[in-house]
Amino acid sequence: MKKLIFVTGGVCSSLGKGVAASSIGALMEARGLSVRMVKIDPYLNVDAGTMSPYQHGEVYVTDDGAETDLDLGNYGRYTHSPLSKVNSITTGQVYQAVINKEREGRYLGRTVQVIPHITDEIKNRVLAPGKDPEVDITIVEVGGTVGDMESIPFLEAARQIIHEMGRQNAISVHVTLVPAVSGGELKTKPTQHAVKELQENGIQPDALVIRSAEPIDEGMRRKIASFTNVEFEGVISGHDAKTTIYELPLLYHSQGFDTFLLKKMGIESRHADLREWTEVVRKYREPKCRVRIGVVGKYMDLTDSYKSVWEALSHGGIANDAAVDTVKIDSSKLEADGADMAQIFADVDGILVPGGYGQRGSSGMVKAARYAREHKVPYFGICLGLQIMVIEWSRDVLKWDDADSTEFSPDSAHGVVSLLEDQVDVKSYGGTQRLGKSESMLKKGTLIHKIYGADSIWERHRHRYEVSNAFRPDLERTGLLVTALTPDGSLVEAVEWPDHPWGLGVQCHPEFKSRPVQPAPLFKSFIGACVKNAKS
Ligand code: GLN
Repeated sequence: MKKLIFVTGGVCSSLGKGVAASSIGALMEARGLSVRMVKIDPYLNVDAGTMSPYQHGEVYVTDDGAETDLDLGNYGRYTHSPLSKVNSITTGQVYQAVINKEREGRYLGRTVQVIPHITDEIKNRVLAPGKDPEVDITIVEVGGTVGDMESIPFLEAARQIIHEMGRQNAISVHVTLVPAVSGGELKTKPTQHAVKELQENGIQPDALVIRSAEPIDEGMRRKIASFTNVEFEGVISGHDAKTTIYELPLLYHSQGFDTFLLKKMGIESRHADLREWTEVVRKYREPKCRVRIGVVGKYMDLTDSYKSVWEALSHGGIANDAAVDTVKIDSSKLEADGADMAQIFADVDGILVPGGYGQRGSSGMVKAARYAREHKVPYFGICLGLQIMVIEWSRDVLKWDDADSTEFSPDSAHGVVSLLEDQVDVKSYGGTQRLGKSESMLKKGTLIHKIYGADSIWERHRHRYEVSNAFRPDLERTGLLVTALTPDGSLVEAVEWPDHPWGLGVQCHPEFKSRPVQPAPLFKSFIGACVKNAKS
C-alpha cells in the first residue's frame, strides 16, 4: 500500500498546518499504519541553519544533523516518522540540485525549465521517503499559503502526483480559516475563495480542516461543503484546542476524520487505538500541582524560537502530574547593575537556560546561573546553558574575572569555553558545527546517570564551542562535576554542581527528542525537582 496525503493551507499563514498534518499522522498511526512526514518550505534558503530564530522560530535538528523547519519537531512529537534530511525540502535545495545537474551536462543539452525539470525534482523528493517498503502513507505538508508565487511549482508537482497516482491513492487536505467579524458572526467567504485558489491550481481538495476559535456547526459545514465540492463528512471543524494542542487527534477522530480519510484512500477501516492520546490529554486536563519555570534566554519575543523547549517542559510536567507555567525572562534585562535577582526569581520554582548564539545577554545568563547555584534553585542548562555554568563557576569559584567563552571574548586569557584547535581557522558558518546525534558516556553515581539509567545515551547536538580541555582540570579540582564525556573522553558532555539539589547542564539538546507520550528523561527529572522545590 502506498498512499499520499498533501496538506496545504489557504487564507493566511500561521493556521497550524503543521500540527494539523501531525495530528493526521498520529491518527493514521493509531490505525496501525506506518507514516512518513515531509515538509516543503518554499523559501530559497537551502536549509534553516542560517535563519534567525527571531524571524523563523526554532531551528529543529534531526538525528543526521539536518537543520530544518520547526514543523519537523511537531512531526517528531506526534508521530514515529523517522526524520532526516530527506524529510525537509526547500526551493533552495531543489534549484541547487537542478542547477548542479545542468552544470554536469545531465540534461543532454535540453532547455532546463521549471516544468518539467524543477517539478520532476520536487516529485522525486516528495516520493523518496515513502519508497521504504514498510511505509503505508506519506503526509506532505506544503508550507506557505496557496496563492503565494513561491508555492506554484510545488502545487503543480502535487497536482501531477495526484493525477498519476489516482485520486484514491493521493489525496488533498486543505486547512483554511473561518474568521469571526465584529459581532461574532462567522464568515465562510475566505474559505470559499481559498478553495477556489487551490482548484485553480488543478487540485480539488478531498477534505477541509476549518480553523476557527469556536466549533463550526453542522449548518456551516454543510454550506462550506456545497460551495467547495467537498463531501460533508470531509469538512472538519478544526477549532482551537481548549487545553493542549495534543487534543487535536482526538478532536479530529470524534468527527470521523480518520475514517473518512481511510475511505478516500480505499484503505479498509480498522480499529483506532487512541489510548495514549486520551491519557496524555487527561494528564494535561487534571494536573495535581503547578510549577513556574523561569526560562532565561535571548530570543524571548518570539514564542516559536524555543518551541521544542516549551513542549518538552510541558511533557516533563505531565510526567509529574504538574502544569508548567513558563516565565520568559530576557537575559539582557538581568544585566543592569541594579537588577534585583531575588525579586525577578521570587516566584519561579526552577531556572532553565536554553541554547543560543552570540554575546548579547550572556552575562545576564551568568547572573541567573549564579542565583540558582547559590540559592539551590533547580537549574537546567542546555548547550549554551551548560557553557554558562562553566563560565559562572570559573568567575566565582576559580576567581577568574575574565573567564568567558571565546565566542563572546575572543582574547580572554581564560577561554573556558572555546573552539577545538582544528576549528580555529575555519571562517565560514555552516559545516563547522557539531550537528546531529552523537553518543555520550555517563559517569556512574552521577545525577545524569541516575536520570537516564544507562551508561551511554544518544542525543542531538547543535553547537560550535566546547568546554576547554586546557581548563578542565581546574574546574574539576575545584569541585565542578564533569559527569558525561564523548566516548573517546575528549569532549565534555555534561556538568553538575556539587551540593545542589538539581544543577545540571548538557551540551546536547534533549528537547528535540521529547514526546508527550515519552517525555525526555532530563525534562521529567528537572520538573520533578522543581515540583519538590515548589512544595518546600
Ligand atoms: N553558541 C554556542 C555554541 O556554538 C551554543 C550553541 C547552542 O546553544 N546551541 O557552542
